[in-house]
Amino acid sequence: MLLFCKHCGLLLPAHQTVCPRCGTPAPQSSAPADQPLYASTAPQPSAAPTEGPRYQAAAPKKRGPMGLAGYFGSLLLFAVPVVGLIFMLIWSVSDRVRPERHRLAQAYLIRTVIFSALLLVAALVFSAIMSNIAYRMVYYPYYF
Ligand SMILES: [Zn+2]
Repeated sequence: MLLFCKHCGLLLPAHQTVCPRCGTPAPQSSAPADQPLYASTAPQPSAAPTEGPRYQAAAPKKRGPMGLAGYFGSLLLFAVPVVGLIFMLIWSVSDRVRPERHRLAQAYLIRTVIFSALLLVAALVFSAIMSNIAYRMVYYPYYF
């Protein structure tokens, strides 16, 4: 800030302790000597707005942990041939269902994929063996 002599009104040079014209001690500036004359009104980096939304997200509906009936019902639904698979897919990708159901659907989806793959491999191996036996029965009947 600019300082003027209290006695004669002379504009005092920066960091001047006494007035060069009349010798009156200069009023002490409240700002430190190394501060700029004009303080910036722009927000300082430390006063930057915090990241994230300003408003609080709507609190999810408070519900207790899913009970045994919830798990049992979910597993019963997953056991339904086509509908169960659809629900399993929807619940495993949707985050609108309760987290226990979401994780259960994901776990059962992984389990279903693994079991289906194993079943497919077993079916292929079985059909290969059976077709090989059938082939030999037709073309090499004297082995039987
Ligand atoms: Zn003066």
